[in-house]
Amino acid sequence: MEVTSDTDVFPFVREKHINFIIEQDSHRSFEYWLTEHLRLNGLYWGITALVTMDTLDSLPKEEVMDFVIKCWDSKSGGFGAFPKHDGHLLSTLSALQILRIYDDELNILGNRRAQLISFIKNLQLKDGSFQGDRFGEVDTRFVYVSLSALSILGELTPEIVNPAVEFIMKCQNFDGGFGMVPGAESHAAQVFTCLGALAVADSLHLLENDTKLSNWLSERQVLPTGGLNGRPEKLPDVCYSWWVLSSLSILKKTHWVDLSKLENFVLSCQDLINGGISDRPDNQTDIYHTCFGITGLSLINHEKYNFKPVDPIYCMPSEVTKHFKKWKN
Ligand SMILES: [Zn+2]
Repeated sequence: MEVTSDTDVFPFVREKHINFIIEQDSHRSFEYWLTEHLRLNGLYWGITALVTMDTLDSLPKEEVMDFVIKCWDSKSGGFGAFPKHDGHLLSTLSALQILRIYDDELNILGNRRAQLISFIKNLQLKDGSFQGDRFGEVDTRFVYVSLSALSILGELTPEIVNPAVEFIMKCQNFDGGFGMVPGAESHAAQVFTCLGALAVADSLHLLENDTKLSNWLSERQVLPTGGLNGRPEKLPDVCYSWWVLSSLSILKKTHWVDLSKLENFVLSCQDLINGGISDRPDNQTDIYHTCFGITGLSLINHEKYNFKPVDPIYCMPSEVTKHFKKWKN
């Protein structure tokens, strides 16, 4: 079904997007296109787009879960991006998000669970930040990823949460935004990870006055296109429909941008022939922008598209996250 209304420039081509994600037309096996097309982070983006469009069963559940489990790296205790790859925080969160969408109890983890929890916890440094893996890169992204993963597992503790929150607060800048590390330039994706981390840690009250931040976020809308950018002077890009709008949604201020202009921008980035969404109109489509275009549209108006509501904190269906054991300060 294609959704359209008088105000829309482009229809939403749901069936084509589904086809783009699962490559139905190519008649390739699941195993084959996984190696070419998705891998673990990509699989999360594909599944998130499908579950948001309420068509999760377009992918074979057992094979998806088998693949995720095959990406577990018994040496580190985390999940890698592909079978036999080293464990990394980013793929570990993707794995947990996928498994949790299918399995409330995460029983499939079995005795991997304890090792997985120590893998995440051991990547925290003394200042509360996290490394992505034992090779050292530090980034506020990894704080979010760790808190989100531990929250999915119901394993947050004050020893982890308190220093993590302290670190996040050190990354806020005079313009209200957040950067990768203390003193680093504000960037919308970093704002999302910092707000997400604070929200998971039930610590949004630490922001005190969020008007400056909300202003900075609403200034990301580029006119006349209506798309959102990640930093001042940059081009608009569909993925920021998610990073900026989810941040405003966490702050309960999505109305601070022109939502109908943003909606039209996202719709204008679809490939109307082959499905998929690109960063900007007429560019090459990919699974990442397809995911965040669709979750962005869900935040804008999930009812209009018959989408499932997405939780702006976890980027997972709200009907899944509402069962999480929420951290209380
Ligand atoms: Zn992008």
